[in-house]
Amino acid sequence: MTVVFDTIFAAGQWVQTERAGGKTIGLVPTMGFLHEGHLSLVRRARQRCDRVAVSIFVNPMQFVPGEDFEQYPRAFDRDLSLLEREGVHAVFHPDVKEMYPLQPVTSICIGKLGELLCGGSRPSHFRGIATVVAKLFHILQPDRAFFGQKDAQQAIIVQKMVWDLHFPVKIEICPTVREADGLAMSSRNVYLSPHDRAEATILYRSLQHAENLIRSGISNASRIEQEMQEMIRAVAAAELDYARVVDPESLEGMRQIDGNVLVAVAVRFGKTRLIDNMMITAEKRERK
Ligand code: AMP
Repeated sequence: MTVVFDTIFAAGQWVQTERAGGKTIGLVPTMGFLHEGHLSLVRRARQRCDRVAVSIFVNPMQFVPGEDFEQYPRAFDRDLSLLEREGVHAVFHPDVKEMYPLQPVTSICIGKLGELLCGGSRPSHFRGIATVVAKLFHILQPDRAFFGQKDAQQAIIVQKMVWDLHFPVKIEICPTVREADGLAMSSRNVYLSPHDRAEATILYRSLQHAENLIRSGISNASRIEQEMQEMIRAVAAAELDYARVVDPESLEGMRQIDGNVLVAVAVRFGKTRLIDNMMITAEKRERK
């Protein structure tokens, strides 16, 4: 049976009971409008933990002014029945007042990691994410928390926050789930017109192109970035935000590829901003 909590108090009582019974807790934080990508995290959590909690909270603090906070798709009843089918034990679904009863004066500052890549066009986004994730960790006290590789920068920042602040939780990063044509699943894909949806495969195609170049032995990062940028710019509906080859820990750019790299793209189709990435490991290159 899946229990639903909309207060921090009720969630805390559930956590206490489960912990007293010696159960491990896995947390999957989401903003809802669930798809197979989210459900893959839930399935991993079910395998790894005795109890699984999913949070569904569209966090205003991670939207910068003018973004789609109000329009962000919401479908709680549908989400709940998907989670019931997956055997999720608890769903935490607070409203904004419950999570932010007062204007907060405290937030998690992640410095440069939050300014690179998506931080360039979404300046306070990662501060909002780190802060809400820290709050969820305190409320639900998970042993493990599950995040998607799809949002690579978010996963890296959460992992760093956990290390830096000694949160007693293990972070697990799960692979990106894609549509048949390679588009990474995202709640925001519903915003795309049929035409833009067809063109949106450019994100994955540009990542595959980068992977092929790297595997063929090309190690000049800016050449790879340029070829990706040209591919994306050739798609009329696509407005390039970034196409970068970066160090997977520092997220800084590089001249020559040496070791593991993260190739990351962000592209706008009208008002819809899509992101995707691929980790290319040194071993993967040597296997070519
Ligand atoms: P969101 O609801 O977009 O905030 O995403 C909640 C969690 O699901 C995050 O950890 C995301 O990285 C993860 N996620 C979203 N899309 C995918 C996907 N296509 N594959 C794997 N994980 C995903």
